[in-house]
Amino acid sequence: MSDPYTLTTRGRLGWAAVVVLVPLASAVLTFGLVDDDLVNHQNSDLAQSYTQAGLADLAGLEDGVPAERAPFDIRYGRSEGTTTLVLYGDHSDFAADAELYAVATANLATHFGKVEIRDVADYTPGLIDSFDAAIYVGTDYRTPPTEAFVLDVRRGDTSVMWVSQNIGALAEVDEAVGQRFVDQYGWDPGNLDVIASSDMGIVEYKGASLSRNTLGTRDVSVPRIDEDSDVEVIAVGECAGAARGCATTEGHNIPQAPLVVRSGNLTFVADLPLDFIDDNELYLVYADLYYELLDSTIEPIRQAAVRLEDVGPESDPEDLRAVADFLSSRDVPFQVAVIPIHLDRTPSGNNWYGLSLLDAPEVVEALQYMQERGGTLIQHGTTHQYGYLDNPYSGRSGEDYEFYGYGCSREALPPFEWEECEQDSFVSKMGPVAQDTIADHTARMAHGRQIMVDAGLGEPAIFETPHYTASPNAYSAMADVYDARYEQVEYFSGMLSSPTVHPVKTFAQIFPYSVHDIYGSTVYPENLQNVTEREQNNHAIRTPETLLARAEANLVVRESTASFYFHPFLDIGYLEELVDGITEMGYTFVAVDELR
Ligand SMILES: [Zn+2]
Repeated sequence: MSDPYTLTTRGRLGWAAVVVLVPLASAVLTFGLVDDDLVNHQNSDLAQSYTQAGLADLAGLEDGVPAERAPFDIRYGRSEGTTTLVLYGDHSDFAADAELYAVATANLATHFGKVEIRDVADYTPGLIDSFDAAIYVGTDYRTPPTEAFVLDVRRGDTSVMWVSQNIGALAEVDEAVGQRFVDQYGWDPGNLDVIASSDMGIVEYKGASLSRNTLGTRDVSVPRIDEDSDVEVIAVGECAGAARGCATTEGHNIPQAPLVVRSGNLTFVADLPLDFIDDNELYLVYADLYYELLDSTIEPIRQAAVRLEDVGPESDPEDLRAVADFLSSRDVPFQVAVIPIHLDRTPSGNNWYGLSLLDAPEVVEALQYMQERGGTLIQHGTTHQYGYLDNPYSGRSGEDYEFYGYGCSREALPPFEWEECEQDSFVSKMGPVAQDTIADHTARMAHGRQIMVDAGLGEPAIFETPHYTASPNAYSAMADVYDARYEQVEYFSGMLSSPTVHPVKTFAQIFPYSVHDIYGSTVYPENLQNVTEREQNNHAIRTPETLLARAEANLVVRESTASFYFHPFLDIGYLEELVDGITEMGYTFVAVDELR
């Protein structure tokens, strides 16, 4: 790792003065006029101090990043509410994924209270009795759960959600339990039918038709449920082919197969609902199953939130006032994601300029205007770029990542050959930024926060990670500075099982409701994303209709959430369409800290 750039304030001012004045004087002397390249705030103190660093040196580090790293507790969540034990077990080549699925599963359970995550190999007899419920995430058929756990499930006292693999293990202890699984639960886990993933693209749940991602996901092993049994079939998959296990039932012409069933203390989810959750609505079914498992008394609600994105010192104050006027005219409270410092290269690309909100009084006035009309300001990074890098796009604030290193490549999957970003490049993680200690990140965030305070905007109470990715250390720093974040989140393989995290194996989680995640903050959900006008880096255009379809799908979650963000420089017509469409679905816009 390179040394962090450190100079006293006086030192930096002196340095900045030399750097600015010497070229300025020579330009004036040489050309008798100001160089085209010279812009306001060129080589300013801010530009100097924030454009020194690159990425951490990952040479020779194949598996992890042994820098100072935040410790992660296997127990976390909200202080009150229910307790959930999350178990996983996978010693295959995909063990890293299994751990991430356990973290994602546990994160959802923190909506209801506290969680504890364990490798099922570490399960001790009776452990389940200390919890309100348990969730087993089965990802590897070669790593069956331990008999101690299986016996405790079969005792039937504690509600258990069993996800995907190894359900057959529950029947192997029939003799020890003294009754057959079939008699206890009404179906036979030794007699599952395998349905090709590609044949099951639609899931029926609570009267809604949802899409299931079929690309790259595993085949599904479904149970056979007799029509006259007491087993509750909670969700079914529609079968495109006539596979064994698919059957037409009364009122349905399309053959179906049970995907989620419940009987006794056991809810069985035949499919793994955590793959490709960006366009796999089975994930919403999964998120909703937690209500019956953990707190069936929660009343249904429909809650919405909107955030205006990437507002910084170079934003157009007129755009900001226009969206504030529109939203307040509809009585819609809103959030504003504020970038306190703007950095960019000068037109020649050879120099940097940098300014903060303190240099942009018209923007500050517009932000205060927004606050007076129902706007809550949140801190959106400090510079929304990192160091002197194109990370990966341009180095310009608002475009680049700030808390993790990224590059562009031709290839979707490793090994990557990095290239200059094109519209159709793939954007992938490279590794942590050079200054990646918790203290580095805390200082950086605190500086941005102080600028907002000094500008007269009050103290922000919520943070949003630029481009929704940070290193584990940066997320930990956020939890030190802020109680809450408002975003989608990246989790790293090895967080639980290893003293180092893997630099690029991660899981990006979208939350359908508020949680209190493994990094130690409340996370308010943003689950619909934003309107985009052009395809970029292999992400399709998202129209208002795209977002509204997602809002519609989220209605299957008991506490339904429609939370999106919007760039104020876009056509305000999109915003009107979204606010109207979401309201028509019965959602009510609230301030983000009221999102449940
Ligand atoms: Zn942003």
